[in-house]
Amino acid sequence: MTCSPPPRDPGASMPGVPVVAMRCVERVYPGPPPVRALAPTDLAVHRGEYVAVVGPSGSGKSTLLNLIGLLDRPVQGTYEFCGRDTAAMRDYERAAVRARHIGFVFQALRLLPLRTALENVMLARLYSGAPRGTHHRWATEALEQVGLTDRAHAPANTLSEGERRGVAIARALVNRPSLLLCDEPTGNLDRAAAAAILNLLDVLHAADTTLIVATHEPAVAARAHRTVTIRAGSLESGPPPAALDALEPA
Ligand code: ADP
Repeated sequence: MTCSPPPRDPGASMPGVPVVAMRCVERVYPGPPPVRALAPTDLAVHRGEYVAVVGPSGSGKSTLLNLIGLLDRPVQGTYEFCGRDTAAMRDYERAAVRARHIGFVFQALRLLPLRTALENVMLARLYSGAPRGTHHRWATEALEQVGLTDRAHAPANTLSEGERRGVAIARALVNRPSLLLCDEPTGNLDRAAAAAILNLLDVLHAADTTLIVATHEPAVAARAHRTVTIRAGSLESGPPPAALDALEPA
């Protein structure tokens, strides 16, 4: 099967088994009316890459992230995650892969407000099916990784927005995933908190985490090592993040 128009994906030529290997992946929401949120798309992301998916609101970034994160299925095309064909997986297998190998930081953080930072992070460990005795230590280490050791016992509803974002990242990291997905990681944050989150993503990337970040902000995209741009559901390489303003709808 070939994609039309032909894809331009520099990741496809890199050596090794990609973490993400999509070929002609398409998503149409049935409607009515039907919405083709992602045109047939090729995307390859390799271990250790830091990729930004940039585009204006409504261009299909979340749709793509949901497909990559196995929260949704394409209507056509193939998607191999770390060499495994995801179409052949049953829902429980996809959930298991998601829990163990994919960390997702959603725009809506979905923290339990009355639970502590540590408890929120431990919960993700619980869902992974990992041995119970490891939960506390791994969650503590994940909070340390994001610089929130001193807030570990604070209920989530007493944390600042930046700290809550940090807890959500720790929760996404706690099972030491092969891939970290972040949807608008700096949305609703002030400048200082946004800078702290971007610095944290740099540190995670330096520690060999594979990162895919969806954003409409050029300053966020500029931190990634590779940018793919999405316009009305079509993915392509570039342009440089500085030119992103031109993509915003009038
Ligand atoms: P972005 O993340 O870039 O803002 P989305 O992936 O959320 O874009 O949306 C892409 C397009 O798909 C938009 O036109 C949006 O209205 C549409 N869309 C998203 N989710 C659904 C859905 N569940 N049903 C129908 N249309 C949807």
